[in-house]
Amino acid sequence: MKNSLLIEKAYHNGSFITSKKTFDVINPANQKAMGHMPNLQTKDCEQFIISAHQAWKSWKDTSVTDRANLLIKLASLVNDHKAELAEIMTLESGKPINESLTEVDYANSFITWFAEESKRSYGLTIPASTNNIRMQTIKQGIGVVAAITPWNFPLAMITRKLAPALASGCTIVIKPASQTPFSAVALAQLADQAGFPKGVINVITSTNSQAIGEILATHQLVRKITFTGSTAVGKTLMELAASTIKRISLELGGNAPFLVFNDADIDKAVTGAIAGKFRNTGQTCVSINRFYIQDKVYDTFSKKLTKAVKALQVGDGLNTNTQVGPLINDKGLQKVQEHIADALGKGAKLETGGKNIQGLFFEPTVLTNMHKQSKIATEETFGPICALFKFTTEEEAIALANDTPFGLASYFYSNNIHQCIRVSEQLEAGMVGVNTGLISNAAAPFGGVKQSGLGREGSTYGMDEYQEIKYICLGM
Ligand code: NAP
Repeated sequence: MKNSLLIEKAYHNGSFITSKKTFDVINPANQKAMGHMPNLQTKDCEQFIISAHQAWKSWKDTSVTDRANLLIKLASLVNDHKAELAEIMTLESGKPINESLTEVDYANSFITWFAEESKRSYGLTIPASTNNIRMQTIKQGIGVVAAITPWNFPLAMITRKLAPALASGCTIVIKPASQTPFSAVALAQLADQAGFPKGVINVITSTNSQAIGEILATHQLVRKITFTGSTAVGKTLMELAASTIKRISLELGGNAPFLVFNDADIDKAVTGAIAGKFRNTGQTCVSINRFYIQDKVYDTFSKKLTKAVKALQVGDGLNTNTQVGPLINDKGLQKVQEHIADALGKGAKLETGGKNIQGLFFEPTVLTNMHKQSKIATEETFGPICALFKFTTEEEAIALANDTPFGLASYFYSNNIHQCIRVSEQLEAGMVGVNTGLISNAAAPFGGVKQSGLGREGSTYGMDEYQEIKYICLGM
């Protein structure tokens, strides 16, 4: 198949542009270049911001209906080009093709959701305190938005920002991860076809992420920075954004706990564990990192989980049978190896896996008898490892689950309704999956507490991140 959406250009002010300097984009499945992209620099970034600001002057005054209709047209084009978008995603990220197809749908669900939400972006009529005034509020788009996105969801992390920004009347400069710029540019092509005016959407490709990030986070004309990625980079951007009092949203790292209580349905828990752990080879912010299993079901759960993990198919993401693809790069592989060595050194037992297969492919792994002081207990692993810790009481499980500076997703399995209510209220996390390992949904608020971030994406709250509330007092 010739993939018409795979082009080696950035997108600025309605034009697809090249540059003398380029960088290679590596396919993690074979560690060969699958293409190259313009390596743009800070002076280019300035131009992107100026174009987005120029476009904002008229885009902000378009009607809600026009903006919603353009988003719906884009969603329809995304749907028509699902196979090409999924192929690009698998080539640049290594993600199994079935997961890429699911991600295209997930990404598109934000476009349709926010096309609809834009029509319900109500202000308030406030009862006036005296007869000679009338008081009301309206919501207005904040201005130019800068979005910096990661490689693990090359499309969905963009649409979750782009759709509410555009629906609110903002314009946007997107800086995708240098590992996965092709998905971003493919989306820009479809947006161009849909008819978004020039400058409303811009995609800057670069490996110079620190310098580009600095410009985006400090430039006067950028009114909002929205970032998904590591907590360390999020902290830097937050500091930089302070210089111009920019609005900021941060979707950062997690360290998700997965608790299985004695009366849980163990087969369902195993299914949830596989879904919540091995999606994208364990490289998602909501991936389960720590399994806490109650003493009476520990052995049964670990046996059933090990059996299910042994059955997983590892391979090139383009093969439709593949369930687990490669890790993203050498750094990711090293982290997985380091966490396994640390766990084994502290007395863990290897039930299955534990080895590098070849290149960036790693065996799906189960470790039991985990020690509380292991690295996996405190750091996000981002790989295909199930690390099983044992607990005795509910209080102990909650304390262990909350013993982390992060609080993005958490999961637990129990068939006791009282326990379900107690535990879901006690877990320090932005999102709790009860008897399920999959929680993401455009209609639900996605986001974390503690050092997992600020703000919520998707849902009825998602537009707020891109809007200012204006109070209007009318004298009579
Ligand atoms: P990352 O290193 O923080 O990179 C994310 C983005 O930031 C990329 O576009 C990257 O560009 C850019 N970047 C890197 N250094 C920068 C700097 N100094 N200044 C400005 N931008 C910079 O994170 P990652 O390793 O790609 O992604 C994995 C992390 O993202 C994990 O911690 C994961 O949990 C988190 N994540 C969170 C969510 C959520 O919704 N909470 C969702 C997905 C992922 P380059 O690629 O060019 O370096």
